[in-house]
Amino acid sequence: MSKRLLLIGPPGAGKGTQAARLTKSLGVPAISTGDIFRENVKNQTELGKEAKRYMDAGEYVPDSLTNALVRSRLNEADAAEGFLLDGYPRTAEQVKELDDILGDAGTALDAVVLIEADQNELVDRLHKRAVEQGRSDDTADVIRHRLEIYAQQTAPLIDTYRERGLLVTVDGLGAVDEITDRILAGLGAE
Ligand code: AMP
Repeated sequence: MSKRLLLIGPPGAGKGTQAARLTKSLGVPAISTGDIFRENVKNQTELGKEAKRYMDAGEYVPDSLTNALVRSRLNEADAAEGFLLDGYPRTAEQVKELDDILGDAGTALDAVVLIEADQNELVDRLHKRAVEQGRSDDTADVIRHRLEIYAQQTAPLIDTYRERGLLVTVDGLGAVDEITDRILAGLGAE
């Protein structure tokens, strides 16, 4: 079974929910750049202060900051045998950096899971999450902007990974359990 994995998909597709479940089934750490940034914001670290400006505006945190954070996280011992990256890479520059990080370690990605969801469903889910979790980047304007940035900067990466033969596409609509099963089935068929 593939162990070096990415989850890719628009904001609200359910990447975080699925990552939390897959990490248990696969026995590899889930690494979410969004969670790491939020933790830093909460603890008011220098990185958190810098990242917050971008997050609150629905912009991407600059590649230089994000890449350094991921490099150091992937070099930790628990990620040596596998990992599930959630929300990284999101730009072409980040794809290149991840290739370099893995190349330096003599490894490579096994699969990229794309969770697909329809735009109206995403907007509904993001509004719901805003109410439930009080995320400061889940307001109406910021949600719209985040979806635009995803379409411009991250959606093109799907083709990059498809061309490499790594893409596993899963329908993100349905019960949470069903979607987890679809992903595991997709990975098993690798
Ligand atoms: P997420 O929880 O993955 O939706 O991430 C929340 C926010 O953190 C994003 O809207 C960005 O501002 C920032 N962020 C998370 N991952 C990245 C990344 N790979 N590159 C740039 N910014 C990121």
